[in-house]
Amino acid sequence: MQLNVPFSEIPDQGVEFDIQDSSWFPDDVVEQAGAVGAHIRLTRKNDTSIELRGRMHAAVALECDRCLERFIFEVDSSMQMVISTSAQNEHWRLQDLESSGGDLETLSQDRPVVDLAEILRQQLLLALPEKKLCMENCAGLCPHCGTNLNEKDCGCADGASNSPFAVLSALKKK
Ligand SMILES: [Zn+2]
Ligand SMILES: [Zn+2]
Repeated sequence: MQLNVPFSEIPDQGVEFDIQDSSWFPDDVVEQAGAVGAHIRLTRKNDTSIELRGRMHAAVALECDRCLERFIFEVDSSMQMVISTSAQNEHWRLQDLESSGGDLETLSQDRPVVDLAEILRQQLLLALPEKKLCMENCAGLCPHCGTNLNEKDCGCADGASNSPFAVLSALKKK
């Protein structure tokens, strides 16, 4: 599928892309673990700017920061941006519709082409969580023996059963 779309081929009334192939997927950075897809609509605003709206979904495999187990993370992300040319340097810029001024994302591209593959790659990487946890309350690994505490209790948790607090709580249960 052609993922480079020249500005000149985008009609005023817009054009839609249903992208089911995953040729754009950044395999070098993150492992794909299921279906990947995107739906994108490009609309020409004028000769020098294109509006992009879309949605992408992907399943990726991540490693939990706490227990180091592999888990599947579902990305479902919507996009809204304007891709426009800057007359001064002939580079193309990505600008969030919401943020007027301020954080401009600059895509260094010399050609009047919407690079859907690059946009999808960036969008996917942005959607990945900063803290990667297999579940919110992941118990992690035992610092003493390395057992995955989500799976079983290794028993070396500070000899809890012999502590005075454990005795107290045992008494309370009676
Ligand atoms: Zn975990
Ligand atoms: Zn342990």
